[in-house]
Amino acid sequence: MKKELIGLSFDELQKELVSLGEKPFRAKQLWQWIYNKGETDFFKMSSLAKTFQTRLNELYTVTHPQIVTEQNSVDGTRKWLMSFQDQKQVECVYIPESDRGAVCISTQVGCAQGCRFCHTGTQKLSRNLTAGEIVGQFMSARDSYGEWPTPTDETRYLSNIVVMGMGEPLYNFENLKTALKILMNGDGIGISKRRITVSTAGRADVIPELADLGVKLAVSLHAPTNEIRDQIMPINHKFPLEVLMTACREYQKRCERRSFITMEYVLLKGINDSPKHAEQLMHLVDGLEVKFNLIPFHYWEGAPFEPASNNAIHQFAKILESNYFAAPIRKSRGEDIMAACGQLKSQFIKNK
Ligand code: SAH
Ligand code: SF4
Repeated sequence: MKKELIGLSFDELQKELVSLGEKPFRAKQLWQWIYNKGETDFFKMSSLAKTFQTRLNELYTVTHPQIVTEQNSVDGTRKWLMSFQDQKQVECVYIPESDRGAVCISTQVGCAQGCRFCHTGTQKLSRNLTAGEIVGQFMSARDSYGEWPTPTDETRYLSNIVVMGMGEPLYNFENLKTALKILMNGDGIGISKRRITVSTAGRADVIPELADLGVKLAVSLHAPTNEIRDQIMPINHKFPLEVLMTACREYQKRCERRSFITMEYVLLKGINDSPKHAEQLMHLVDGLEVKFNLIPFHYWEGAPFEPASNNAIHQFAKILESNYFAAPIRKSRGEDIMAACGQLKSQFIKNK
Protein backbone atom coordinates (compact mmCIF):
# COMPACT_ATOMS: atom_id res chain seq x y z
CA MET A 1 0.00 0.00 0.00
CA LYS A 2 1.17 3.51 -0.77
CA LYS A 3 2.14 5.71 2.15
CA GLU A 4 0.18 8.88 2.89
CA LEU A 5 2.34 12.00 3.09
CA ILE A 6 -0.13 14.37 4.75
CA GLY A 7 0.47 14.17 8.48
CA LEU A 8 4.23 13.62 8.34
CA SER A 9 6.12 16.34 10.19
CA PHE A 10 8.58 18.32 8.07
CA ASP A 11 11.49 16.32 9.50
CA GLU A 12 9.78 13.04 8.73
CA LEU A 13 9.08 14.14 5.17
CA GLN A 14 12.70 15.12 4.74
CA LYS A 15 13.90 11.76 6.08
CA GLU A 16 11.54 10.01 3.72
CA LEU A 17 12.97 11.82 0.71
CA VAL A 18 16.57 11.41 1.79
CA SER A 19 15.94 7.67 2.05
CA LEU A 20 14.99 7.80 -1.64
CA GLY A 21 18.33 9.42 -2.41
CA GLU A 22 16.90 12.92 -2.88
CA LYS A 23 18.57 16.10 -1.64
CA PRO A 24 17.08 17.44 1.62
CA PHE A 25 15.95 20.73 -0.01
CA ARG A 26 13.44 18.79 -2.11
CA ALA A 27 11.41 18.36 1.06
CA LYS A 28 10.67 22.07 1.22
CA GLN A 29 9.56 22.14 -2.41
CA LEU A 30 7.26 19.19 -1.90
CA TRP A 31 5.98 20.65 1.37
CA GLN A 32 4.98 23.85 -0.42
CA TRP A 33 3.15 21.95 -3.13
CA ILE A 34 1.21 19.98 -0.57
CA TYR A 35 0.48 22.61 2.07
CA ASN A 36 0.80 25.98 0.33
CA LYS A 37 -0.77 25.14 -3.01
CA GLY A 38 -2.96 22.28 -1.85
CA GLU A 39 -1.89 20.09 -4.76
CA THR A 40 -2.70 16.39 -4.46
CA ASP A 41 -1.48 15.22 -7.88
CA PHE A 42 2.29 14.66 -8.07
CA PHE A 43 2.23 15.10 -11.85
CA LYS A 44 0.97 18.65 -11.46
CA MET A 45 3.85 19.61 -9.18
CA SER A 46 5.58 21.28 -12.09
CA SER A 47 8.78 22.35 -10.37
CA LEU A 48 9.66 18.72 -9.60
CA ALA A 49 11.59 16.60 -12.11
CA LYS A 50 9.50 14.13 -14.10
CA THR A 51 11.43 11.15 -12.70
CA PHE A 52 10.89 12.41 -9.15
CA GLN A 53 7.16 12.87 -9.78
CA THR A 54 6.91 9.31 -11.08
CA ARG A 55 8.82 7.92 -8.10
CA LEU A 56 6.62 9.83 -5.66
CA ASN A 57 3.52 8.59 -7.40
CA GLU A 58 4.69 4.98 -7.12
CA LEU A 59 5.26 5.20 -3.40
CA TYR A 60 2.98 7.82 -1.90
CA THR A 61 -0.41 9.45 -1.83
CA VAL A 62 -1.57 12.96 -0.86
CA THR A 63 -5.19 12.70 0.22
CA HIS A 64 -7.65 15.22 1.60
CA PRO A 65 -10.62 13.73 3.47
CA GLN A 66 -13.56 13.18 1.18
CA ILE A 67 -16.46 15.56 1.60
CA VAL A 68 -19.54 13.36 1.76
CA THR A 69 -22.12 16.07 2.35
CA GLU A 70 -22.09 19.81 2.69
CA GLN A 71 -24.81 21.83 4.41
CA ASN A 72 -25.14 25.58 4.49
CA SER A 73 -26.92 27.33 7.33
CA VAL A 74 -28.99 30.48 6.85
CA ASP A 75 -26.39 32.28 8.97
CA GLY A 76 -23.47 31.34 6.70
CA THR A 77 -22.18 28.46 8.77
CA ARG A 78 -21.11 25.54 6.59
CA LYS A 79 -20.92 21.98 7.84
CA TRP A 80 -19.26 19.05 6.12
CA LEU A 81 -19.45 15.38 6.78
CA MET A 82 -15.97 14.12 5.99
CA SER A 83 -14.90 10.57 5.38
CA PHE A 84 -11.50 8.90 5.76
CA GLN A 85 -9.86 5.88 4.09
CA ASP A 86 -11.60 3.38 6.39
CA GLN A 87 -14.98 5.11 5.82
CA LYS A 88 -15.05 6.50 9.34
CA GLN A 89 -16.57 9.95 9.41
CA VAL A 90 -16.46 13.18 11.37
CA GLU A 91 -18.12 16.53 11.07
CA CYS A 92 -16.23 19.73 10.45
CA VAL A 93 -17.74 23.22 10.57
CA TYR A 94 -16.84 26.66 9.22
CA ILE A 95 -18.17 29.54 11.29
CA PRO A 96 -17.90 32.94 9.57
CA GLU A 97 -17.38 36.09 11.59
CA SER A 98 -17.70 39.60 10.17
CA ASP A 99 -14.56 39.57 8.00
CA ARG A 100 -13.06 36.14 8.58
CA GLY A 101 -13.89 32.90 10.32
CA ALA A 102 -12.94 29.76 12.18
CA VAL A 103 -12.82 26.17 11.10
CA CYS A 104 -13.90 23.82 13.87
CA ILE A 105 -12.05 20.52 13.59
CA SER A 106 -12.45 17.12 15.23
CA THR A 107 -9.79 14.95 16.82
CA GLN A 108 -11.61 11.65 17.39
CA VAL A 109 -14.41 9.62 15.87
CA GLY A 110 -16.89 9.73 18.74
CA CYS A 111 -15.77 10.55 22.27
CA ALA A 112 -15.14 8.46 25.36
CA GLN A 113 -15.82 11.22 27.89
CA GLY A 114 -19.58 10.90 27.96
CA CYS A 115 -20.46 14.39 29.15
CA ARG A 116 -24.17 14.15 29.73
CA PHE A 117 -25.19 17.32 27.90
CA CYS A 118 -23.22 16.48 24.76
CA HIS A 119 -24.60 14.78 21.69
CA THR A 120 -21.15 13.65 20.56
CA GLY A 121 -20.75 12.06 23.98
CA THR A 122 -23.54 9.61 23.23
CA GLN A 123 -21.48 8.19 20.39
CA LYS A 124 -18.82 5.82 21.76
CA LEU A 125 -15.20 6.44 20.90
CA SER A 126 -14.48 4.62 17.68
CA ARG A 127 -10.88 5.71 17.17
CA ASN A 128 -8.38 8.55 17.33
CA LEU A 129 -7.78 10.52 14.17
CA THR A 130 -4.27 10.50 12.74
CA ALA A 131 -2.30 13.74 12.47
CA GLY A 132 -2.98 13.66 8.73
CA GLU A 133 -6.71 13.35 9.25
CA ILE A 134 -6.73 16.28 11.66
CA VAL A 135 -4.80 18.51 9.24
CA GLY A 136 -6.80 17.10 6.34
CA GLN A 137 -10.09 18.49 7.67
CA PHE A 138 -8.75 22.00 7.37
CA MET A 139 -7.41 21.24 3.89
CA SER A 140 -10.77 19.94 2.69
CA ALA A 141 -12.42 23.04 4.17
CA ARG A 142 -10.02 25.11 2.07
CA ASP A 143 -10.89 23.03 -0.97
CA SER A 144 -14.53 23.83 -0.38
CA TYR A 145 -13.82 27.58 -0.39
CA GLY A 146 -11.12 27.36 -3.06
CA GLU A 147 -8.68 29.02 -0.71
CA TRP A 148 -5.44 27.83 -2.32
CA PRO A 149 -2.61 28.76 -2.45
CA THR A 150 -2.37 29.97 1.14
CA PRO A 151 -3.49 33.64 1.08
CA THR A 152 -1.79 36.32 3.13
CA ASP A 153 -2.95 36.59 6.70
CA GLU A 154 -4.98 39.72 5.95
CA THR A 155 -6.96 38.36 3.04
CA ARG A 156 -7.79 34.87 4.12
CA TYR A 157 -11.32 33.83 4.89
CA LEU A 158 -10.49 30.65 6.82
CA SER A 159 -8.34 32.47 9.36
CA ASN A 160 -8.74 30.66 12.66
CA ILE A 161 -8.89 27.12 13.94
CA VAL A 162 -10.86 25.93 16.92
CA VAL A 163 -10.29 22.37 18.04
CA MET A 164 -13.83 21.98 19.33
CA GLY A 165 -15.34 19.36 17.08
CA MET A 166 -15.89 15.75 17.96
CA GLY A 167 -13.69 14.11 20.54
CA GLU A 168 -11.45 15.15 23.42
CA PRO A 169 -8.28 16.61 21.88
CA LEU A 170 -6.05 15.99 24.88
CA TYR A 171 -6.74 12.25 24.74
CA ASN A 172 -5.22 12.28 21.27
CA PHE A 173 -2.48 14.69 22.12
CA GLU A 174 0.52 13.29 20.20
CA ASN A 175 -1.37 13.36 16.91
CA LEU A 176 -2.87 16.74 17.70
CA LYS A 177 0.58 18.18 18.41
CA THR A 178 1.97 16.94 15.11
CA ALA A 179 -1.11 18.26 13.31
CA LEU A 180 -0.91 21.71 14.90
CA LYS A 181 2.76 22.05 14.01
CA ILE A 182 1.93 21.29 10.39
CA LEU A 183 -0.97 23.77 10.41
CA MET A 184 1.28 26.48 11.90
CA ASN A 185 4.19 25.98 9.52
CA GLY A 186 4.68 29.25 7.63
CA ASP A 187 5.82 27.55 4.41
CA GLY A 188 2.51 25.77 4.15
CA ILE A 189 -0.88 26.41 5.65
CA GLY A 190 0.49 29.11 7.92
CA ILE A 191 -2.14 29.59 10.60
CA SER A 192 -0.52 31.55 13.39
CA LYS A 193 -0.56 29.94 16.82
CA ARG A 194 -2.43 32.95 18.20
CA ARG A 195 -5.33 32.00 15.96
CA ILE A 196 -5.62 28.45 17.22
CA THR A 197 -7.71 27.47 20.25
CA VAL A 198 -7.82 24.01 21.79
CA SER A 199 -10.84 23.17 23.92
CA THR A 200 -10.64 20.46 26.56
CA ALA A 201 -13.11 18.88 28.93
CA GLY A 202 -10.32 19.05 31.50
CA ARG A 203 -7.46 16.62 31.04
CA ALA A 204 -5.41 18.49 33.64
CA ASP A 205 -2.16 16.54 33.31
CA VAL A 206 -1.72 17.65 29.69
CA ILE A 207 -3.12 21.20 29.81
CA PRO A 208 0.18 22.96 30.67
CA GLU A 209 1.80 21.53 27.54
CA LEU A 210 -0.52 23.64 25.40
CA ALA A 211 1.46 26.65 26.62
CA ASP A 212 4.60 25.23 25.00
CA LEU A 213 2.76 25.02 21.68
CA GLY A 214 1.68 28.62 22.13
CA VAL A 215 -1.97 27.96 21.34
CA LYS A 216 -4.94 29.32 23.24
CA LEU A 217 -6.78 27.28 25.82
CA ALA A 218 -10.50 26.89 26.28
CA VAL A 219 -11.82 24.81 29.16
CA SER A 220 -15.27 23.25 29.19
CA LEU A 221 -15.93 24.13 32.77
CA HIS A 222 -19.73 24.05 32.98
CA ALA A 223 -19.95 23.78 36.78
CA PRO A 224 -18.76 25.80 39.78
CA THR A 225 -18.48 22.88 42.23
CA ASN A 226 -17.28 19.30 42.15
CA GLU A 227 -20.68 18.16 43.27
CA ILE A 228 -22.32 19.51 40.13
CA ARG A 229 -19.47 18.77 37.78
CA ASP A 230 -19.29 15.13 38.91
CA GLN A 231 -22.89 14.74 37.83
CA ILE A 232 -22.52 16.14 34.33
CA MET A 233 -18.90 15.42 33.36
CA PRO A 234 -17.43 12.03 34.31
CA ILE A 235 -13.89 13.33 33.66
CA ASN A 236 -14.27 15.36 36.86
CA HIS A 237 -13.87 12.21 38.96
CA LYS A 238 -10.37 11.85 37.57
CA PHE A 239 -9.42 15.54 37.46
CA PRO A 240 -11.52 17.42 40.02
CA LEU A 241 -11.82 21.19 39.90
CA GLU A 242 -8.91 21.99 42.23
CA VAL A 243 -6.59 19.88 40.05
CA LEU A 244 -8.01 21.48 36.90
CA MET A 245 -7.53 25.01 38.24
CA THR A 246 -3.93 24.24 39.22
CA ALA A 247 -3.28 23.04 35.67
CA CYS A 248 -4.78 26.26 34.31
CA ARG A 249 -2.50 28.34 36.53
CA GLU A 250 0.47 26.30 35.32
CA TYR A 251 -0.59 26.89 31.70
CA GLN A 252 -0.74 30.62 32.27
CA LYS A 253 2.63 30.66 33.98
CA ARG A 254 4.21 28.80 31.09
CA CYS A 255 2.69 30.97 28.34
CA GLU A 256 5.20 33.27 26.72
CA ARG A 257 2.62 35.97 26.24
CA ARG A 258 -0.31 36.89 28.40
CA SER A 259 -3.07 34.55 27.40
CA PHE A 260 -6.59 34.62 28.76
CA ILE A 261 -8.26 31.27 29.22
CA THR A 262 -11.77 30.93 27.86
CA MET A 263 -14.04 29.21 30.36
CA GLU A 264 -16.95 27.66 28.54
CA TYR A 265 -20.14 27.37 30.50
CA VAL A 266 -23.28 25.72 29.19
CA LEU A 267 -26.31 26.88 31.13
CA LEU A 268 -28.57 24.01 32.13
CA LYS A 269 -31.92 24.72 33.68
CA GLY A 270 -32.01 24.09 37.41
CA ILE A 271 -28.52 22.56 37.40
CA ASN A 272 -25.92 25.33 37.16
CA ASP A 273 -27.80 28.51 36.24
CA SER A 274 -28.56 30.31 39.51
CA PRO A 275 -26.97 33.54 40.81
CA LYS A 276 -25.35 31.48 43.56
CA HIS A 277 -23.59 29.41 40.92
CA ALA A 278 -22.28 32.58 39.28
CA GLU A 279 -20.82 33.70 42.62
CA GLN A 280 -19.20 30.32 43.20
CA LEU A 281 -17.80 30.39 39.70
CA MET A 282 -16.01 33.69 40.21
CA HIS A 283 -14.56 32.37 43.42
CA LEU A 284 -13.34 29.23 41.64
CA VAL A 285 -11.32 31.10 39.01
CA ASP A 286 -9.71 33.42 41.50
CA GLY A 287 -6.09 34.06 40.53
CA LEU A 288 -6.58 33.17 36.88
CA GLU A 289 -7.01 35.47 33.90
CA VAL A 290 -10.17 34.21 32.29
CA LYS A 291 -13.05 35.23 30.13
CA PHE A 292 -16.28 33.35 30.16
CA ASN A 293 -18.23 32.12 27.22
CA LEU A 294 -21.81 31.51 28.21
CA ILE A 295 -23.39 28.93 25.95
CA PRO A 296 -27.13 28.37 25.71
CA PHE A 297 -27.67 24.63 25.90
CA HIS A 298 -28.43 23.16 22.50
CA TYR A 299 -31.10 20.60 22.95
CA TRP A 300 -30.91 17.31 21.10
CA GLU A 301 -33.46 14.53 21.13
CA GLY A 302 -33.20 12.49 24.31
CA ALA A 303 -31.00 14.97 26.14
CA PRO A 304 -31.49 14.78 29.92
CA PHE A 305 -31.40 18.57 30.37
CA GLU A 306 -33.29 21.65 29.36
CA PRO A 307 -31.85 25.01 28.38
CA ALA A 308 -31.76 27.68 31.08
CA SER A 309 -34.27 30.49 30.54
CA ASN A 310 -33.16 33.64 28.75
CA ASN A 311 -33.75 35.47 31.95
CA ALA A 312 -31.46 33.20 33.94
CA ILE A 313 -28.74 33.44 31.30
CA HIS A 314 -28.83 37.23 31.26
CA GLN A 315 -28.85 37.45 35.02
CA PHE A 316 -25.88 35.09 35.14
CA ALA A 317 -23.98 37.20 32.62
CA LYS A 318 -24.79 40.39 34.51
CA ILE A 319 -23.33 39.08 37.76
CA LEU A 320 -20.07 38.12 36.05
CA GLU A 321 -19.87 41.38 34.12
CA SER A 322 -20.51 43.55 37.14
CA ASN A 323 -17.41 41.90 38.59
CA TYR A 324 -15.37 42.87 35.53
CA PHE A 325 -15.36 39.51 33.80
CA ALA A 326 -15.98 39.31 30.10
CA ALA A 327 -18.99 37.02 29.79
CA PRO A 328 -20.56 37.18 26.34
CA ILE A 329 -23.50 34.95 25.65
CA ARG A 330 -22.49 32.93 22.66
CA LYS A 331 -24.72 33.40 19.69
CA SER A 332 -25.68 30.00 18.48
CA ARG A 333 -24.46 29.33 14.96
CA GLY A 334 -25.67 26.83 12.45
CA GLU A 335 -28.31 25.36 14.70
CA ASP A 336 -30.61 24.74 11.74
CA ILE A 337 -28.08 22.28 10.34
CA MET A 338 -27.16 20.72 13.71
CA ALA A 339 -23.72 22.31 13.52
CA ALA A 340 -23.83 24.07 16.86
CA CYS A 341 -21.71 23.10 19.85
CA GLY A 342 -22.30 19.63 21.11
CA GLN A 343 -24.63 18.73 18.28
CA LEU A 344 -22.06 17.01 16.15
CA LYS A 345 -22.52 13.35 15.61
CA SER A 346 -21.60 11.26 12.60
CA GLN A 347 -24.46 11.09 10.15
CA PHE A 348 -23.48 7.47 9.70
CA ILE A 349 -24.51 6.65 13.25
CA LYS A 350 -27.62 8.78 13.06
CA ASN A 351 -28.78 6.89 10.01
CA LYS A 352 -28.54 3.53 11.69
N1 SAH B 1 -14.10 17.71 23.85
C1 SAH B 1 -13.75 19.08 23.91
C2 SAH B 1 -14.01 19.84 22.63
C3 SAH B 1 -15.31 19.60 21.90
S1 SAH B 1 -16.85 20.09 22.65
C4 SAH B 1 -14.43 19.76 25.05
O1 SAH B 1 -15.30 19.14 25.64
O2 SAH B 1 -14.05 20.88 25.37
C5 SAH B 1 -17.09 21.78 22.20
C6 SAH B 1 -17.90 22.59 23.23
O3 SAH B 1 -19.31 22.36 23.10
C7 SAH B 1 -17.54 22.23 24.66
O4 SAH B 1 -17.41 23.37 25.45
C8 SAH B 1 -18.75 21.44 25.07
O5 SAH B 1 -18.88 21.38 26.44
C9 SAH B 1 -19.86 22.18 24.39
N2 SAH B 1 -21.11 21.44 24.31
C10 SAH B 1 -21.28 20.10 24.30
N3 SAH B 1 -22.59 19.78 24.22
C11 SAH B 1 -23.28 20.93 24.16
C12 SAH B 1 -24.67 21.24 24.04
N4 SAH B 1 -25.59 20.30 23.93
N5 SAH B 1 -25.00 22.56 24.00
C13 SAH B 1 -24.08 23.51 24.06
N6 SAH B 1 -22.75 23.28 24.15
C14 SAH B 1 -22.35 22.00 24.21
FE1 SF4 C 1 -16.44 14.63 24.51
FE2 SF4 C 1 -16.22 17.32 24.69
FE3 SF4 C 1 -18.60 16.15 24.21
FE4 SF4 C 1 -17.47 15.91 26.61
S1 SF4 C 1 -18.18 17.81 25.65
S2 SF4 C 1 -18.44 14.23 25.44
S3 SF4 C 1 -15.32 15.76 26.06
S4 SF4 C 1 -16.82 16.11 22.87
